[in-house]
Amino acid sequence: MLCAFCPKDAVEIGGEHIWDSWLNKALPPLRYRSRKRYTIDSPVIESEAVSLEEKLPVVCARCNNEWMSGLSGKVKDRFRHAILDGEPISLGAKDAAILAAFTFMKSVVTNHLTDQKSGCGLFFTRAVRERFRTSLTLPPLLKCWIAGFQGKAYMSTRNNLSIMSTSEPGPLSGIEFYSFTYVVGKLAVQLLVPRWKHLLDSGKPLVSLNPNAFWADAEALFWPHPGGFISWPLPMYIGDDTIQKYIYRFNNPVTVTVVRGTQVFSNIAT
Ligand SMILES: [Zn+2]
Repeated sequence: MLCAFCPKDAVEIGGEHIWDSWLNKALPPLRYRSRKRYTIDSPVIESEAVSLEEKLPVVCARCNNEWMSGLSGKVKDRFRHAILDGEPISLGAKDAAILAAFTFMKSVVTNHLTDQKSGCGLFFTRAVRERFRTSLTLPPLLKCWIAGFQGKAYMSTRNNLSIMSTSEPGPLSGIEFYSFTYVVGKLAVQLLVPRWKHLLDSGKPLVSLNPNAFWADAEALFWPHPGGFISWPLPMYIGDDTIQKYIYRFNNPVTVTVVRGTQVFSNIAT
């Protein structure tokens, strides 16, 4: 299989950590209840773990060790205390670009694993992924939100990718939405990208979705960056009782519903 971001072969074992390995060194010894589900219809696989160990063998060693590692290192430098302790941050345009690129990178590796497991298809073209590798250019109409997570467990993580569409006629007909939610410690980010399902439609203008006002005090749109600085944490947190609702918030019977590619990874410290 080819690397998600370049024309080389992907590694067969190892690969990109879903949650970066520095976290295991920064955290005290913990035990986790770890959950995995590869497709929308498959059972949840539960196990015990002593570290955040999931790796996705979908990239080549060079990408993983070079630019991907560089991007993860920038996130570690800038967001480490926010992730581990919820320490306030003020998100300017440069940090927003780093965090949006990191979220997109994690979503693409997740999509590649989902495709391997279920043949759900790759949402982004090779050209988009290779352009991202060379210049960290993000696809047009990509939106990214930042939120704070506060659960009962000392540490928890979530990684969830869904592809949504509608079967009803109307303005959203023919559009697919790619939604990715990533929680690491106190930091939660969510990404949403629309595309036309059929290439023949690709010249037509796309529309995206806007979140319900219910979430307004819990998150901020940071990509495209609105200018100035975004203060985090926000007035409200996402918690154990609202995280599932947040992950699936665009899934609504009258707009779009999750059709495929649902993949879930989570770890909750016990
Ligand atoms: Zn590569």
